[in-house]
Amino acid sequence: MISLDECLSPHVAVMRRGRGRLEWHAVRSGRHRVRVVAWTCSCRATVYELCVSGGRAFIRRTVQAEPVAVISETAWGVPREAWEIWAALLAGGVR
Ligand SMILES: [Zn+2]
Repeated sequence: MISLDECLSPHVAVMRRGRGRLEWHAVRSGRHRVRVVAWTCSCRATVYELCVSGGRAFIRRTVQAEPVAVISETAWGVPREAWEIWAALLAGGVR
């Protein structure tokens, strides 16, 4: 186990049975200015980031892998919805 002093950012909970699956798409934020407003701990192979760009928000998933990380994003939506998805993601309600 990793101690709390080493991990300052949250981890996603183990996914609960029977909960939702998010749709993950290829990255479209590449040419947009994106601000990352929340993120999960990078000690895990999969890191999630809540991103905001021009009044829209989405969640970016990075699977740290060799030789290159695999990055995907949820559909862009209003920030309130993205925060709801983010909360569910951290709680293990969706993945
Ligand atoms: Zn950690």
